[in-house]
Amino acid sequence: MSELLRVFQRCGIEPGDVQGGSLAVRSPIDGAELARVHETSPSQLHEIIATAQAAFAQWRNVPAPVRGELVRLWGEELRQAKKDIGYIVSIEVGKIIEEGLGEVQEGVDICEFALGQSRQLCGRTIVSERPGHRIMEQYHPLGPVAIITAFNFPSAVFAWNAALALVCGDPVIFKPSEKAPLSGLATFKALERAIARFGDRAPRGLAQIVTGKAPLAQSLVESPAIPLVSATGSTRMGRAVGPAVASRFGKRILELGGNNAMVVTPAADLDMALRAILFSAVGTAGQRCTSLRRLIVHRSVKDALLQKLLKAYSTLRIGNPLMPGTLVGPLIDEGAYTALQESIATAKQQGGKVLTGGGRALEKEFPKGFYVHPAIVEMPEQTAIVRHETFAPLLYVLTYDDFDDAIAIHNDVPQGLSSCIFSNDMREVETFISASGSDCGMANVNIGPSGAEIGGAFGGEKETGGDRESGSDAWKQYMRRTTNTINFSKELPLAQGITFA
Ligand code: NAD
Repeated sequence: MSELLRVFQRCGIEPGDVQGGSLAVRSPIDGAELARVHETSPSQLHEIIATAQAAFAQWRNVPAPVRGELVRLWGEELRQAKKDIGYIVSIEVGKIIEEGLGEVQEGVDICEFALGQSRQLCGRTIVSERPGHRIMEQYHPLGPVAIITAFNFPSAVFAWNAALALVCGDPVIFKPSEKAPLSGLATFKALERAIARFGDRAPRGLAQIVTGKAPLAQSLVESPAIPLVSATGSTRMGRAVGPAVASRFGKRILELGGNNAMVVTPAADLDMALRAILFSAVGTAGQRCTSLRRLIVHRSVKDALLQKLLKAYSTLRIGNPLMPGTLVGPLIDEGAYTALQESIATAKQQGGKVLTGGGRALEKEFPKGFYVHPAIVEMPEQTAIVRHETFAPLLYVLTYDDFDDAIAIHNDVPQGLSSCIFSNDMREVETFISASGSDCGMANVNIGPSGAEIGGAFGGEKETGGDRESGSDAWKQYMRRTTNTINFSKELPLAQGITFA
């Protein structure tokens, strides 16, 4: 039995789950076929949605702290299976082992967060203008939640959404990316084991998985039986999903593309900035939604920073992500490689100068794997191609003289996910995170734009979608709010002083 089949077995993935299906799953490491997954048919989906609705009728009445116990168990299962799920993430999407493990850790972390949250699903009590009255808010479970995920976080994004949805009283239907269903399946199986341990307090169909391509996701998006659709992926996908959910007055959480920048000022610690640039620009081979794509650097420090950066880029270890010491794994597929080549060609036409990288690496060793030398392209200004998200390790360098211009350049893109400044000047830092600073959902100081913790709300503005998931009060999106006005007097006064007699 191959190592992968043994890992599948330990994760609870049966041979029937990964053989004989119509959806071929390939490893970006060498292009080898890993599995053939069965696609969910429209009639199966119909049944799955009906089961989720029935599950909701029961689950919403289980006390939230008891629901919290389920995600506690899920966290335990994820901890135990961390090495195996992390390995599947690495082999399926090409992340280096450390990042594959880190992704599963995010699942563990959100389970712990959601467990605590299960005792804090609280609304406010508000004073009334009427005597003998009180107003209060309650948060109630919402209904089945569809979770549609992108290839690049095939385990964590499901966990982020499902852990909160489950403690909020909502069943989940998970549609992983067609490029990475195996990591999703392994993460889902850990949840199934937790549900089995939780026993008959969990209704049948509390958590379900469907596999297939965009049309399958579209059926979930269009179903009025699903009050909340959480969709993570490209802006192109969000443009289709957003209006479709809105047309039936559903709720949505859209987590879409980013075009994340770092401003490096003359007051920056350049060595710290260098380390942050490296992790965020070339980590995950530039395939994080929060990857660093634009470096906006002050003219006075540009040469010094670029010198260090080019030296560091020249020593990057590109290769098989399963090998210790590798820092840059492959792109997900040939399409991603072609998109990178097109962006570099366009950048050159728009006045860009390639300072390093962009070409294919390790072609002889992995003819069907798409490895690249991470690219740095210096641009004369923020042209159209810089304003576009290329999902690959392509870093544009832009120069500024005046701090206000740096912020203007920073914000002059359609996306608004993550951002950061490197500076030890208090005025620059505070301006960057102020109302007239970065317009992104996340604005960091002396730390890169990627690698967020689960405690804060995650998400972005503008074409990134405008929604939030994970920490802080993101849980509220998985619930419906009711406002209750309670009269404990013997009178019936009307609001606004109206008399109606
Ligand atoms: P993608 O948009 O191609 O696919 C994402 C998911 O959406 C898949 O499950 C796919 O089947 C589904 N989908 C595609 N078109 C659809 C449609 N019309 N209706 C319903 N579902 C549809 O994205 P990808 O290539 O897998 O992921 C990369 C993109 O995701 C990048 O743009 C990246 O920035 C973004 N991303 C964003 C976040 C975030 O939190 N903001 C996180 C991860 C990835």
